[in-house]
Amino acid sequence: MDSYQLISRAETTHNLTEAELLQILQDSKTDPALFAAADRVRKKYVGNAVHLRALIEFTNICRNSCSYCGLRCQNQAVTRYRMNVEQIYTLAQKAAQWGYKTIVLQGGEDPFFTAELLVPLLRRIKALGLAITLSIGERPRCDYEAFKQAGADRYLLRIETTDKALYEKYNPGMSFENRLRCLQDLKQLGYETGTGILVGLPGQTPLSLAKDILFFKHLGADMIGLGPFIPNPDTPLKDAPAPQLLPALKVMALTRLLLPDINIPATTAMETLEPQGRQKALQCGANVIMPNITEGEARVNYALYPGKAAAAQAPQNLQEQLAQNLKKIGRYIGTGYGGHPPQRHC
Ligand code: SAH
Repeated sequence: MDSYQLISRAETTHNLTEAELLQILQDSKTDPALFAAADRVRKKYVGNAVHLRALIEFTNICRNSCSYCGLRCQNQAVTRYRMNVEQIYTLAQKAAQWGYKTIVLQGGEDPFFTAELLVPLLRRIKALGLAITLSIGERPRCDYEAFKQAGADRYLLRIETTDKALYEKYNPGMSFENRLRCLQDLKQLGYETGTGILVGLPGQTPLSLAKDILFFKHLGADMIGLGPFIPNPDTPLKDAPAPQLLPALKVMALTRLLLPDINIPATTAMETLEPQGRQKALQCGANVIMPNITEGEARVNYALYPGKAAAAQAPQNLQEQLAQNLKKIGRYIGTGYGGHPPQRHC
C-alpha cells in the first residue's frame, strides 16, 4: 500500500503496524496529507477547543545526569533555585485567578520535595478548584499513591525513547525498567497518564520512533508530549546536529492518528525552534498549550535547552493574546478541565 492509502486508512481505523509507521515516517511527499489527516482527526475527536495548562517550574535542582538536559546535576552553568511551598501556592492561586483550570507542577528530581511536604500543598491547591498535573520524575509507587489521594489528577513522565540501549546511554544511572514501572504504576493508580519522547536524539532511528508511537498506544496514554531535542551547550550532547521541527511534527501527527482522542500539547520546544512552531503543531494534531506562568529568575533558570521560548516574557495577559491568535486558525480556549477521556470532568 502506498503511504497515501495508509494515512487514509489510519484516519478511520486508528491502526498502523510498525512497518507502516516506518514507511510514512520515511516518506516526505505525504507529509502534507499526514498533517491534514491528523488535523481532521483532532477536530473530529477533541474539537476546536485548545486547553490551557498553567506550567509552574518550581525547582531546577535535579539528582539525575540526563545527557540532553540542562538541569543535569553536573551542570554548574545554571543557577539553581527551589521555590518554597508558599511561593508555589501563590502561583497556583494566581493561575486560578487568571482562569486556568489546570496547573502543571514540574521540576527536576529534587529530593527536598518529599511526599510529606507535597501532600499538604496538593490538598491546598486542590481546594482552589484546579486540576493538578505533576511532572516530577520517578518516585516510588507509595508517593504516587499519596499524591493521587491528595488530589493530583494527572502525571507527565516521558519515556524519552523506548530504545532501551539509547535510554540507558543518555540517562546514566537510571533504568529503563524503572521508568516503565513508574508509568504502569501511574496508570494503575488511575492517573491520566502522560508520556512522550524527544525526537532527534543522536542515534535514534525512524524505526525507533515507530516503536515509540506503538508504545504510546500500548500503554493507553492519556496524553503525549513530545518535541524536538534541542542540544544544550552545557551538556554532553552539545555537539549534536541542529534540531529540526518536521520529524517531531510527523511523530505527533501519527500519534494523533493512532490515539485519536488523547491530549497532545504543542510543546515549548516546538515553539522555540520556529516562531510559528506552536501554531503548526496545533494544525498537525495538537490540542493543548502549556503557558509557562513561572516568574522571575526561576523562569530564566529552568534552562532545559537554549532559547526556551519566551523565557523572558511576562506571564500576565498571555491568554488574551493567545485567544486572538487561536481565533485566526478557527480555534478557541477551552473552558472545562479538558481531561481524558474528553467527556470526563474533575
Ligand atoms: N524531571 C521531570 C521533568 C523533566 S523536564 C521528569 O523526569 O519527567 C521535562 C522534559 O524536558 C523532559 O522529559 C525532556 O523530554 C525535555 N527536555 C530535556 N532536555 C531537553 C532538550 N535539550 N531539548 C528538548 N527537550 C528537552
